[in-house]
Amino acid sequence: MTASAASAPPPASVPALEGFRRVVVKVGSSLLVDRAQGCVKAQWLASLVEDLAALHRRGADVLVVSSGAVALGRTVLGLPDGALKLEDSQAAAAVGQIALARIWAETLAGSSLTAGQILVTFADTEQRRRYLNARATIARLLDLRAVPVINENDTVATSELRYGDNDRLAARVATMASADLLILLSDVPGLYDAPPADNPGARLIPVVPRVTAEIEAMAGGAASHLSRGGMRTKIEAGKIATTGGAHMVIADGRIDHPVARVAAGGPCTWFLTGSSPVTSRKKWIAGSLEPRGALHLDAGAERAILAGASLLPAGVTRIEGDFTRGDCLIMRNEQGGEIGRGLAGFDAGDAARILGRSSQDVEAILGGPQRAALIHRDDMALAGEGRG
Ligand code: GLU
Repeated sequence: MTASAASAPPPASVPALEGFRRVVVKVGSSLLVDRAQGCVKAQWLASLVEDLAALHRRGADVLVVSSGAVALGRTVLGLPDGALKLEDSQAAAAVGQIALARIWAETLAGSSLTAGQILVTFADTEQRRRYLNARATIARLLDLRAVPVINENDTVATSELRYGDNDRLAARVATMASADLLILLSDVPGLYDAPPADNPGARLIPVVPRVTAEIEAMAGGAASHLSRGGMRTKIEAGKIATTGGAHMVIADGRIDHPVARVAAGGPCTWFLTGSSPVTSRKKWIAGSLEPRGALHLDAGAERAILAGASLLPAGVTRIEGDFTRGDCLIMRNEQGGEIGRGLAGFDAGDAARILGRSSQDVEAILGGPQRAALIHRDDMALAGEGRG
């Protein structure tokens, strides 16, 4: 830990880092890549990974969103400085992502952590069906105590349909993974009340209770020469993360042990959420999705889901509607009353074939290993939950 890391504890209004159970850490290209040498700053990365390992040891799930593929690949390919054409940045990402994944895997292994690479496109996070797949993979990796290392799949992303910056991607990952904290490590210490480059008197804002128009106006537009996102994409990330029930911190990553420094109350900006990931998700399922069908449950299934279980095909007597996996469905009891809503684990066609059947039968009917639930308990909001 650096000397400044031992500074005053964080103000009381800011949550303590030890309280979080699932943390996404976003690392920008300019922190990770030494442009002059064309390589990763290995010693800095090792210090960050020690911080992540400390979070992991005390039981938190840790996810990394790492940029750097384009920055690493462009040097190897000898591409010119400045903005790259789309094909060039895709080629650079293809070359650089291999090195990026390797250095994360090796460095995490140095702290006895297992890395799992996930490359996502915009559609993987925005289309519910694909979103459920990415979410399930992330959840399984975390169950297995691995550290997902995530980046945009820049080699296939087209300019119209891509994030382009990893700030917003990291915020979507945080909501997708039901994380309760997102840490954006950046080459600035946080959000200032005016762009600090032209305003020597600019003050760092320690806490943003809510992203208002005034906060958005403070963002300016500047991005550093290596990374895509400026303060504007960070504020957008703040909106996405806090709406999804996660707090967000912007902190300076240019020092060793940057996460330990946040924990010790070092300078940074907190964006606070008034919600929790579970409440936000239930609200989203209960309120903002148009139902595409209904499932009728027998009394046993109704009891089971009210007690917190997933909905298995065995407890469903009838389905209505032409839905696909990820669509919102209403769950009804034997009297036809709405018990809750949830996201379909199967398309309507498959659901019709497996309704009323045991989980063993389901594998035989659909051929091969299947997800067990018609609606997973994490994907449902019971009546009364998530409203208001
Ligand atoms: N996904 C890009 C990369 O890995 C970086 C995007 C960003 O800098 O935010 O190079």
